[in-house]
Amino acid sequence: MRKIKVSCLCLSILAFLFCFVVAGDHTRRANAQNDSGALSDPLGAPAAGDSHSFDVANMDRSVAACQSFFQYANGGWTKNNPVPAAYSSWGRFNELAEKNRDVVHQILEDAAKNTKAAKGSNEQKIGDYYAACMDEANIEAAGLKPIQPELDRINKIKDQPSLQAEVAHLHSMFIPVLFRFSSGQDYKDATQVIGQLNQGGLTMPDRDYYLNPEEKSKTIRAKYVTHVTTMFQLLGDEPAAAGTEANAVMAIETKLAEASTKREDLRDPNARYHRMKVADLKALAPEFEWDAYFKGIGVSLADLNVGMPDFVKAEGKQLTTTSLDDWKTYLRWQVVNARATALPKRFVDEDFDFKGRTLSGTQELLPRWKRCVQSTDQALGEAVGPLYVQRAFPPEAKARAVKMVQNLISALHDDLETLSWMSDTTRQRATVKLEAFMRKIGYPDKWRDYSALKIDRDSYAANIDRASAFETRRGLAKIAKPVDRAEWGMTPPTVNAYYNPSMNEIVFPAGILQWPFYDPAADDAINYGGIGVVIGHEMTHGFDDSGAKFDSQGNLRNWWTDEDLVKFKARAQCIIDQFDGFEVQPGLHEKGKLVTGESIADLGGLAIAYAAFQKSMQGKPRPPDIDGFTPEQRFFLGYAQIWAQNVRPEYERQLVITDPHPLGRFRVNGPLSNMPLFAQAFQCKDGDAMVRPPDKRCQIW
Ligand SMILES: [Zn+2]
Repeated sequence: MRKIKVSCLCLSILAFLFCFVVAGDHTRRANAQNDSGALSDPLGAPAAGDSHSFDVANMDRSVAACQSFFQYANGGWTKNNPVPAAYSSWGRFNELAEKNRDVVHQILEDAAKNTKAAKGSNEQKIGDYYAACMDEANIEAAGLKPIQPELDRINKIKDQPSLQAEVAHLHSMFIPVLFRFSSGQDYKDATQVIGQLNQGGLTMPDRDYYLNPEEKSKTIRAKYVTHVTTMFQLLGDEPAAAGTEANAVMAIETKLAEASTKREDLRDPNARYHRMKVADLKALAPEFEWDAYFKGIGVSLADLNVGMPDFVKAEGKQLTTTSLDDWKTYLRWQVVNARATALPKRFVDEDFDFKGRTLSGTQELLPRWKRCVQSTDQALGEAVGPLYVQRAFPPEAKARAVKMVQNLISALHDDLETLSWMSDTTRQRATVKLEAFMRKIGYPDKWRDYSALKIDRDSYAANIDRASAFETRRGLAKIAKPVDRAEWGMTPPTVNAYYNPSMNEIVFPAGILQWPFYDPAADDAINYGGIGVVIGHEMTHGFDDSGAKFDSQGNLRNWWTDEDLVKFKARAQCIIDQFDGFEVQPGLHEKGKLVTGESIADLGGLAIAYAAFQKSMQGKPRPPDIDGFTPEQRFFLGYAQIWAQNVRPEYERQLVITDPHPLGRFRVNGPLSNMPLFAQAFQCKDGDAMVRPPDKRCQIW
């Protein structure tokens, strides 16, 4: 995902990177960049008397390990760490993300105070961006002024050509109305960057929010219409008119939702690959003036990938069957929605009331400084990044991470050699793919150049506009240029990691290479269960239901023998069935198909990290038991404890619908109940909840 603004992190490329966790309160991604944490405590190295290492107080030993390992390992933590009012969920990831955010906060406060920074320097830009965001008095005084030019433009729309010209204009400001257009590597020729046209145009998180017939969804839809009505009133519209307008927005977005493909059906990259000539796109949706659009956003192309042709076709029809006035209403809504957080407090509060309170169950807004740290990281993440790395990620931390990745690669290598269900032909090709993995650790070797981006203290909203336009141009300028393999999709302070199939690369930002994932003071078992599994997880994405379709060079090309592919699919189905069975709330189940890739990656990551841990002990005296736990038990406890979390029910619902990652409790109990090594470590018996019967046990890597 390149350039996305806060609430919607799925805009472009990142949507198809495979991350370790959802980008939520605790992580940011890509051009949605981010923040960070602590001088005195680099890499989570424990200060004297403050060892972070594994803590038995986080456990609940009244529950049997073999009944619910999540509860056993985390019951103490979840009981003592309710979700704070300003968060939708709270877990170990958040603890680290807060620490990283503190580091970035200090960097930005220092930069904002330094009014002598050279004009045009990165320090001036991050300081001014942050200061303008913090200047609420100035934002109040400006009122609607920042978006007035856009509202005026929309008001002047008088026909289809001027409507469509406005669509192009809003896209150039990163306001993704109607559909999404960005750049990305061609799935079938990873050496090329091409235009990518995808479905979009919705405000709520997924098509399901518009279409699900259940009561809970109906209630949310009613609240959404009320929210849109209120926002139009804040723009100055009369209540009755605002209500009518909100219904028009809802009608348009519902049609877009109907035309959208379910996200679980888009997991197969073949389903979203339809490279075609611009002439074919014109035939698909002749109602839209494509030449004018491409000219409007400043690109010239002969062909492109149309991810969802049916969506484009339906949208073309919708374009001329919906009234011009309704389209204008929709565009006005999209503008105020996209820029609400940069407007006066009444807009910020109303925006939060729906997106925070209704959609996520969050009780209060994050403090302003936290929102401003996040926003600065999104706009200028690679200008903040070098300063974060300097303060929080010393060379020895990078060296440790590099070594750990090597150990994990070597363990997967061994695993491939001994995997019983795979033929030698496929095995050999899998090994080639593994050996071709590009590894990115900590931070980019080459930082993004922001010299063409103007930032000042005059207007926060204007900074967002320019940063959005800058990022959009930067993304579109890649079309038909050679692929930049040095680029990163996450900023250094991010508590996350990803695998990118088109690059065949695994990427670990500095932000996650710290306690509780990695603690230099902890025993190896804890670290292999933590960061070891994170690394194994990302590697396994290269071989999950989607990643396995890409070859060592990042091309969507089958390298499996027919027979092995059939076996692989059957094994993936085992995981789908298992997760379909997990009930989250009464009537709400994990969606097995949506979470297949992540669940394969968790199970594979655990197997590989466990093997690497075993290998690390070879030829050495056996490590002593600690706190009464064997090294093997501590490996699994280390893993389980990174998933300690509490999630608000509203947000839980959103995650189940939109997030390809299962909830933390199922990321623990799901894969571990498939692992005989786990059962062995805790002496679980057949029939225990944490032991799946042999005929239901899933194993892939
Ligand atoms: Zn993942």
